[in-house]
Amino acid sequence: MLTFDELLDTWDGETAVIRRDRESGAWIFICIHSTRRGPAGGGTRMKVYDTRSEAFHDALRLSAAMTRKLSIAGLPFGGGKAVIAVPEIPSGDERRALFLRYADLIESLGGTYRTSSDMNTGEADMDVIGERTGYVFGRSVAAGGSGSPAPPTAVGVCHGIRASLRHVSGSDDLTGRIVVVQGAGGVGSPLADLLASAGASVIVTDLDPDRAAAVAGRVGGTVLPPDRLHDVDCEVYAPCAVGGTLSVETVPQLRCRIVAGSANNQLAEPEAADLLNARDILYAPDYVINGGGAISLVGVEQLGWTGAEVDEALSGIGDTLRQIYERADAAGTSTSAAADVLADERLLAP
Ligand code: NAD
Repeated sequence: MLTFDELLDTWDGETAVIRRDRESGAWIFICIHSTRRGPAGGGTRMKVYDTRSEAFHDALRLSAAMTRKLSIAGLPFGGGKAVIAVPEIPSGDERRALFLRYADLIESLGGTYRTSSDMNTGEADMDVIGERTGYVFGRSVAAGGSGSPAPPTAVGVCHGIRASLRHVSGSDDLTGRIVVVQGAGGVGSPLADLLASAGASVIVTDLDPDRAAAVAGRVGGTVLPPDRLHDVDCEVYAPCAVGGTLSVETVPQLRCRIVAGSANNQLAEPEAADLLNARDILYAPDYVINGGGAISLVGVEQLGWTGAEVDEALSGIGDTLRQIYERADAAGTSTSAAADVLADERLLAP
């Protein structure tokens, strides 16, 4: 375990707020990594951790990742993240009271940190936060928000898949392309619709066989049992379930030309990016291709964009990936390394 000094040494951010919530026994960590391009945006994760330093570490590193994600998306926002480390996941009145106190803490920061949902938090919690502060994204439509970010995330992933196909084959036509969608949830389900309606042959895999069957049935695709993920040849593998699916063990088993999906933190270890590169498998860096939800939330709720403006920004995900692929080819690096360089350039741009 890292010491407190070591924890802080891992982080080059601006402000960290630690609040003990006596009523619930929770500890709240709000980390503002960068306000260089605007207020720090990033979701609120609620989780039971073994130690408080583990929770703090999560908030610190996730806040830095948000800076890159929002800068590469071209949004006037910096990166932040909040973690509420709870003794157990609360429900009912206790949960509501905790989110109201948390909202007061966000309000006290004067807009330098603006939240949205993340692991174990959702639209209903954002509605509660919205009762006390305006510094919240992702409330329900009924409460004045723009609803779920999953459908625009899927649109962004679809643009990313097309840009990736164009890079490897010269055409972004999806007709007849075989795409394996892993995870038939909030993002995977609308992604399967988009791909199928563009003519792709969609294979769906999910731990929940009923969910996989429902989505596959709807789009005229087929179901693949999760343990047979590496048994089929496909052009695109779209991880839209959990992180960590690309490791030094799994990359050699991949039978695809492209990895392009919404899951966060797809690389289990940095070496997996080089291994993908060595195997000539094009990897769409996760924080670039899955930025559609953030783009839509900020665009609609903060910047007052029209639907057409949101669509244009979502298609920009494809343009950014194209730049990353060209730079990676020119420099002979992994696409992941090229994305980090571009994100840092956009962060520091005047
Ligand atoms: P979700 O919970 O709605 O759906 C995930 C699906 O994956 C579920 O159907 C689940 O049964 C399935 N699943 C879980 N583990 C699996 C496994 N090992 N193999 C196959 N299926 C598995 O989640 P979501 O909102 O669709 O998000 C999917 C991923 O995309 C997550 O990693 C999330 O962090 C990321 N992401 C989501 C958004 C968004 O707007 N929802 C935005 C950016 C990134």
